[in-house]
Amino acid sequence: MSTHRGFESSVLECKALAGQGILKIRWHEFLERAPDAIPSEINLVDRVEGMMLGLAVGDSLGNTSESMLPSGRQAAYGHVDNYLPNRHAHSRRVGLPSDDTQMAFWTLEHLLREGGLEPQYLGAAFARRQIYGLGMAVREFLTNFKSGMPWMHAGASSAGNGALMRIAPVLIPHIKSPGPGLWGDTLMAAHLTHNDALSNVASVAIVDLLWKLLSCETVPDRLWWVETFAATCELVEPATHYQPRMGHPADFSGTLSQLIRQYVVPALEADLSVTDACAIWHSGAYLLETVPCVVYILARHGHDPEAAILAAVNETKDNDTIAAIVGAAVGALHGVSALPPQWVSALLGRTESADDGRVFELLRDAGNKYGYGVSTLVASRVPAKITVRTAKAAFAAGDPVKVLRKIYWVKIVSFLQQNWAAIDDLPDASGVRIWFFSDVSTVFDFIDYPSRANARAALRVNGFSVFTAEDFDFIARPSPPFEWQSHPNGEIYSSGRYWIGQ
Ligand SMILES: [Mg+2]
Repeated sequence: MSTHRGFESSVLECKALAGQGILKIRWHEFLERAPDAIPSEINLVDRVEGMMLGLAVGDSLGNTSESMLPSGRQAAYGHVDNYLPNRHAHSRRVGLPSDDTQMAFWTLEHLLREGGLEPQYLGAAFARRQIYGLGMAVREFLTNFKSGMPWMHAGASSAGNGALMRIAPVLIPHIKSPGPGLWGDTLMAAHLTHNDALSNVASVAIVDLLWKLLSCETVPDRLWWVETFAATCELVEPATHYQPRMGHPADFSGTLSQLIRQYVVPALEADLSVTDACAIWHSGAYLLETVPCVVYILARHGHDPEAAILAAVNETKDNDTIAAIVGAAVGALHGVSALPPQWVSALLGRTESADDGRVFELLRDAGNKYGYGVSTLVASRVPAKITVRTAKAAFAAGDPVKVLRKIYWVKIVSFLQQNWAAIDDLPDASGVRIWFFSDVSTVFDFIDYPSRANARAALRVNGFSVFTAEDFDFIARPSPPFEWQSHPNGEIYSSGRYWIGQ
């Protein structure tokens, strides 16, 4: 089966997949309509950056105390209102990503790179890098996808919140030119990892909510949040009677919209705290728990981004994901300028272990590409451009090349053929150089990076592994002396043709 898209329109493709029962949703003409244009008075830069940074901040505030019950978290950490000291950053109080931020920003990176949502390639983008705090469903998807299953069959049958947490960026390409492709992209991105109606319905409803929040000029009232979310669910949800996992709430059986209407509205009327309300339906990763939590927190605290995010962080169990979704919503409504500045400034902006500033770089690129602009805040956080000096004219054929480092990286590029790499320090501590060479010790390309960590990350992303005689006992490593010989296909890596993530 072809793994490539056979349709120009993501909506038509989703409709066809829904018709075949592969993509689970009740098809409704709503999904073939463009969303309303966002009013021109809206400060889109502030709102879109707020949506994405709100997501990252919420995740980072929550992921150091994820999956604890609120009482246990309170006992261990007190009331969390800042990043906890992070063992992955020398115990500094900085914001580091987990799967929510990583997969959301890799989706944005994918959209920028491909020019649109291509689910097979988005799957590959999720599969090639390490994900932190991976949920069970995404793990199952990755196993399926890496075994060669095409994207539309690789998702796990799971009503967990793993698609909902990372769906926000699919709006961004559509903001300036709204079209029904928004719903096609939403459904493809959601279905990729989660083969489940509840996940698809919730993803459509949250994208609709985020779109409306980007358009809001005033803060909506409490019931608006509930009604807006439930009404969108009703359009596209199959008449499935879901039961809560652990009998919370007891005796409930029905659809997501019914759960929200029957339980969230009365809890609001009773003015329950988030903790008391979440005790009714629980606050784990199952969508029948996550969604009412998100809607309740937004209805109660949506006017105050700090209070909303902190309620999610402190008063729910799957707190990083719930805070990421709540953060995206309050960020879309209030803008990045309304998020507590200390949270944004202490966010390292990583999507991987050492790509500090990457989320800001992606936001800058998106603002430029999609025409809504870039804030000075985001621009100021973009790391200095990694300079990739090209190999052109640096050496002549036959020139000796000194490759000093003895740790070699290898990538199998075709049958019985490998490309090799080694990372050498540049003089004056000005960075490092990755040399690329062949089996017969000819060096054919190089790329310079600011640090060894950058270079290692880039090699991994591009399919290189550290060579060990045990793992690769079928190949022999090249040995010095090395000499320069141009590659028959030119500078295959430094030109960017076969190199990503610079
Ligand atoms: Mg997470």
